[in-house]
Amino acid sequence: MSWAIEHVIGAFREAFDGEPDGVWTAPGRVNLIGEHTDYNEGFVLPFAIDLAARVAVRVRSDGAIRLFSTAGSEGVAKLSASEVRREDARGWSVYPAGVVWALRERGIRVPGFDLVLDSDVPLGAGLSSSHAIECAVASALNELTGAGLDAPELVLTTQRAENAFVGAPTGIMDQSASLRGEAGHAVFLDCRDQSVELVPFDAPGAGLVTLVIDTRVAHSHADGGYASRRAACELGAEVLGVKALRDVALGDLDEARALLDDTTFRRVRHVVTEDQRVLDTVQALRTAGPAAIAPYLDASHASMRDDFEISCDELDTAVEASRAAGAIGARMTGGGFGGSAIALVPAEDEAGVRDAVSAAFSERGYRAPRLFTVSPADGARRLA
Ligand code: ADP
Ligand code: MG
Repeated sequence: MSWAIEHVIGAFREAFDGEPDGVWTAPGRVNLIGEHTDYNEGFVLPFAIDLAARVAVRVRSDGAIRLFSTAGSEGVAKLSASEVRREDARGWSVYPAGVVWALRERGIRVPGFDLVLDSDVPLGAGLSSSHAIECAVASALNELTGAGLDAPELVLTTQRAENAFVGAPTGIMDQSASLRGEAGHAVFLDCRDQSVELVPFDAPGAGLVTLVIDTRVAHSHADGGYASRRAACELGAEVLGVKALRDVALGDLDEARALLDDTTFRRVRHVVTEDQRVLDTVQALRTAGPAAIAPYLDASHASMRDDFEISCDELDTAVEASRAAGAIGARMTGGGFGGSAIALVPAEDEAGVRDAVSAAFSERGYRAPRLFTVSPADGARRLA
């Protein structure tokens, strides 16, 4: 049994006495390419990473729910037996509570349980530590209740938990990566019909490291910038007479330029070209391997910086410094206005790139970035 499994079981014994019924895990994710395409019914290409949440769970007969995380000092959180309500869920317990609520909404009888969370997904680094929790809890309860939901159903259940219980207007990318990812692969997701194809992305096998550079500049989904970008996309689709920007082809852009104001046009151009970059990246991975996607990462960053205007100095610094020090491609990832960038780096250049990025941040007086290397890993599953 691996150290990680023993650790969460040990923590369970300490918090609740006795043995858990089982241990489940779900990973965080990185989006390789496809930014602000999800709500335009387009394409995204995330992958599940080798940093994950693990939950040890034991069913209780009295209906009570007790939650404990090995991180933080909140102690054991308790939730009411029969009815899980948003206003009763404090801190991270909102995520398991949301999953319980969404499963019950589907008519699944969820019993009480004791749960210990042990996660090595860093919080707030754009690696979706919150979805890792939700997907691990959903996988555990799916099995313990005998509900037997398949992966697509679990994706929709955790999305419902996020949207209607937690109150975050998120799509299905993060859950799809966490629940459906596979080692050595990226998850090619069509956000219109929610279909998934696994695409080979064996970066380590190609001698490449995916470096995540967390700028530690705060951003949030509620940000006005995010809302205004969504609004611009909706306006663009309406003026162009399509259901979503997914339906605009590259060849339609000339015509679009004549119909839209300059700002809206550039927002539209980002989405349309980004969808194409996802398709090109998938094609490159299938035919030529991980190194061949580097130019699409660079072009994606330029498009977000210049057309969608959601980058910032810290993200540009992360991208430029890593490229100058040997990264073959780099881009900001996530919603923008801070958060993280990713860089594809030859393994032998990793140390140099790390040093160069840290030095560039220090020179500009920015807070030191957090740096992580991640590789494509298996999605949610039972461990013990
Ligand atoms: P991220 O991009 O990492 O998902 P979020 O703000 O969406 O950032 O989620 C971070 C939240 O997830 C934290 O505020 C906390 O409530 C919860 N969280 C993540 N990991 C843990 C953990 N190990 N223990 C307790 N709570 C956690
Ligand atoms: Mg999150």
